[in-house]
Order: sequence, then C-alpha cells, then structure tokens
Amino acid sequence: MKVIKTIKQMQLFSLKAKQNKKTIGFVPTMGYLHEGHLSLIRRSKKENDITILSIFVNPAQFGPKEDFKKYPRDKKQDEVLAKKEKVDIIFYPSIKKMYPMGYLTYINIGKTANVLCGKSRPGHFQGVATIVAKLINGVTPNAIYLGQKDAQQAIVVKRMVEDLNWNLTVRTLPIVREKDGLAMSSRNSYLNSQERKQAACLYQSLIVAKKIIRSGERRSTKIIEKVKKVVLKNPGAKIDYVACVDAKTLKPTKMIYKKTLIALAIFIGKTRLIDNIIIDA
Ligand code: AMP
Repeated sequence: MKVIKTIKQMQLFSLKAKQNKKTIGFVPTMGYLHEGHLSLIRRSKKENDITILSIFVNPAQFGPKEDFKKYPRDKKQDEVLAKKEKVDIIFYPSIKKMYPMGYLTYINIGKTANVLCGKSRPGHFQGVATIVAKLINGVTPNAIYLGQKDAQQAIVVKRMVEDLNWNLTVRTLPIVREKDGLAMSSRNSYLNSQERKQAACLYQSLIVAKKIIRSGERRSTKIIEKVKKVVLKNPGAKIDYVACVDAKTLKPTKMIYKKTLIALAIFIGKTRLIDNIIIDA
C-alpha cells in the first residue's frame, strides 16, 4: 500500500494507471474507518483494478460551531485497516495543499443544498461538493463509492457528476449497522454508554415507520408524528428533523410511495446523528 500526499502525485499515479489500462475505484472518507467504510472499499476492490482511499477531514464542510477540531482521527489504525483490505493507495492530502492561501472557488449545487441536513448545516453541501470535485480531479476514478448513510450527500454528488458531464459511475451502497441497528458512524465514538443505548432509537423509529406503512398508513404527517414519538421516548434525544421526501429529488412527499426516503437527524446529547430508509413497497 502506497501513501500519496499531494494532488500532483495523485494525478501522476492515476495517469500512469490509465495508460496501463487499469480501472480506478475511489472511496472518499474522513477516516476513523469502520465497517461502513470497509464495505465501500470491498466493493471497489471487486469492481476495479486499483482502489484509492482518501482520508481528509474537510474543514469546508463544517460550520463554525461544529466538530471539525474534535472530529475523531486515528491515522495508524486507518492504515492498518486499509492495508488489511488491500487498498492500493491511501490519498492523504493536507489542508494547506487543498485550500492554499488565496483559495476562492466553491461549487454551488443549488436547491438540494438547502433541505434536510443542508437546512441545519448551512454551507455543508457546498463544502462537500467542492472537496469531492477536487478529490475526483486528483484521483480521476472510473467509479466512486458512497454510502446510503449520507443519502443527501450521495444525491448531491450524483447530480454534480451528471451536471458536469464527468465520465464516472457513482455507486451508492447500503448502510452498515451495529447489532442494535445503529448506523455505523465515526461520530458514534462521541456517545457515552447511556447515549449509545439511546442512539438505537433512530433506527427503531424508522422500523416503526416501515411497519405502519406496511399496514396501510400513507400520510407523511402521520408517519413523521409516529417517528418523532418513538425517538422522544428517550430523554436524551432532541429532534433536528424528520422528513419524508422523494428519494431522488428530495422534494417533500405528502403521501408515501415507492422510493420515498424517510430521513432523520437526531441529537443524542450533543451528538448529531443521521439515518434513513427508502420505502420499497
Ligand atoms: P465519512 O468518513 O463519514 O465522510 O464517510 C465516508 C463514506 O462512507 C461516505 O460515502 C459515507 O456515506 C460512507 N459511510 C459512512 N458510514 C456508513 C455506513 N454505516 N454504512 C455505509 N456507508 C457508510
């Protein structure tokens, strides 16, 4: 496994790989790797000759009061895990190299940036789109692997790739969960043991939503009400949002139909967690 630290070196490596007719799969992450990340790496390994993992905690996607500084980082452990998965390249660009003095350019991704998580985190998706674009320009992959865990992020990236006519496939893979259903996330490490138990309510509430939809309820308001009720049974939980939206456009849906995305963001103590399901019936 090779470690690359600059965009220039990254571009050079990818150019050579392409000249040798190798396909490149790309897994962008902020590190502190867990099974969710590893599932993306494994799929990329299956589908490409070369797998490149990037680790970069991107300051541009954190608000001024958010957790950029305390975001968990463990370079050594990440390298051990990446090596075990036979990642070919870890791409570790520095903040200085990604956003040098005088940096000005950001990608404006329109209205999908201002709903759901974008409403609570102004500027977040502009930061995400910008870094993903910059990383893609460095790695020049044939395919990029993203998790359904960050459903809105995957939609934003897909839109950007389509709108800018980039010749690459965007793959969105299922959410990997802990035994009690909690979606794996680097931020789960912020939870104390009591909060960790309560955090299972995110997925539990989505399962309840699924059940009442199966038994005939189609009104989004009723489903959102029920989800909130399940979540708020936990004294440490505070709702940021619960929403029923179209899984492709993120437009709110009054009635649930096939491909409705039920998405939520919940504070457990001070930790903001997200989860979602897509209704398939
Ligand atoms: P992050 O390091 O949190 O920015 O995540 C990097 C990538 O891993 C994103 O595409 C995430 O959606 C994906 N990811 C994070 N958690 C999970 C999970 N539990 N299951 C599947 N993919 C995930």
